[in-house]
Amino acid sequence: MPIKLFNTLTRQKEVFTPLRKGCVGFYACGPTVYDYAHIGNLRTFLFEDILRRTLEYNGYSVKYVMNFTDVGHLVSDGDEGEDKMTKGARRENKSAREIADFYIAAFKRDAAALNILPPTIYARATDYIKEQIALVKVLEKKGFTYLTDDGVYFDTSKLSDYGQLAKLDIEGLKAGARIEQVAGKKNPTDFALWKLMPPGVKWLQSWKSPWGTGCPGWHLECSAMSQKHLGAQFDIHAGGIDLIPVHHTNEIAQSEAAYGQNPARYWVHGEFILVDNAKMAKSLGNFITLEKISAKFNPLAFRYLTLTAHYRSQLNLTWESLDAAQSALNNLYQKMRELKGIMNPFWPLIKLIAGKKTKDAIKIIAQYEDSFREYIDDDLNMPEALALVWKILNDAILPAAGKMELLKKFDKVLGLDLDKIKIISPPAGIKKMAAEREVFRQNKDWAKSDELRDKIAANGWLVEDTPQGPKLTKK
Ligand code: AMP
Ligand code: ZN
Repeated sequence: MPIKLFNTLTRQKEVFTPLRKGCVGFYACGPTVYDYAHIGNLRTFLFEDILRRTLEYNGYSVKYVMNFTDVGHLVSDGDEGEDKMTKGARRENKSAREIADFYIAAFKRDAAALNILPPTIYARATDYIKEQIALVKVLEKKGFTYLTDDGVYFDTSKLSDYGQLAKLDIEGLKAGARIEQVAGKKNPTDFALWKLMPPGVKWLQSWKSPWGTGCPGWHLECSAMSQKHLGAQFDIHAGGIDLIPVHHTNEIAQSEAAYGQNPARYWVHGEFILVDNAKMAKSLGNFITLEKISAKFNPLAFRYLTLTAHYRSQLNLTWESLDAAQSALNNLYQKMRELKGIMNPFWPLIKLIAGKKTKDAIKIIAQYEDSFREYIDDDLNMPEALALVWKILNDAILPAAGKMELLKKFDKVLGLDLDKIKIISPPAGIKKMAAEREVFRQNKDWAKSDELRDKIAANGWLVEDTPQGPKLTKK
């Protein structure tokens, strides 16, 4: 069964065939490191992680490159406004380098907490200025650029298929109504390759170039770094859907103009997270970081939640949905512990001897494996894959050891730590707090009971009220 992926280029699910047998070149646009990543960003990185894991599960060797944007991304997605790094540096009274170092470290902590596997290469834009200047030189030589007072611009009218990825209405844009024009720009869709530092102004980050001191435009880094690490054309390029109309459209334009081909064969985009059905923005007060979630939940509850929706559907996050994801994850861990407690330790041997009953079990295991692969290979149908996990857990015939074998294998893609399940009982202090809380609860003193629940949670345990009494599970 081949892997199928929805390719934004064709707006179709396509069979994935790599350029080189057994290998995949994969580039994902990483975070702009001027602030903490929000959970929308993290959802995108999670879907990319699932894609990478799915490819590896299918036996591919994946070269996965992710960039850190630490220069050039302006507050608007166009060419106006302040550089986001400068904004962050000013806010915190630090240098741009310090800001980038700090938020790169924060991002890596978030990624690790969410079991997002580190890429093969992290590429930081400011470490590739030489390569970016070289790319502008190539474009200049090929006649795709022009100079304005603001910088070196890419002339999008020189490419006949500009905007194909986003299906941009170029004629409509030419009317000029929707995009603010930068003085000297020939076409509304033209974009900066190199921004010049205006005379009398001192930027926090600038470099010398053949056109004058300045900094690279936002899109340039991805074309230069992907070409350097993955070649002029590679297999998969991914990001969030907001990147389609400007950033990815311009990456394609630069790479096509410089190297004669679309840099990636499959462009894969993840949908947005909404918070309480609204777009996330700092000004709305619904800007949620993983740190905020982790105060109440296991970060992997967020990972679990993202698996319940298809990556091409919007995911509406509410505290209730996180609560439900946490309960489901706890149940999953509890089931795994129960399986571990009852499974036959001689399962590998029993499989070798294989009597009639075992042979039947082996057959069922193989069928479940096929179904799992069918779901994940079908454009990452994780909601179905997750439903299968529960089906297996509730299977009345399959022996515990067979279930464990399957789920541990699936966890290579799910990344929910199912392979790390340990049977642990709560320490005496936690049990005492839970007992005290139960007394408050029975006396309907909800305030005190909630207070203790939070205290227990802060110590890494969750209390769940069941008909049999309070149940403690490790967060
Ligand atoms: P940025 O740090 O803004 O460069 O974005 C990093 C990644 O997060 C990009 O792939 C964006 O497309 C993605 N992204 C931004 N906002 C959201 C959101 N609300 N939901 C999902 N992905 C997002
Ligand atoms: Zn990019």
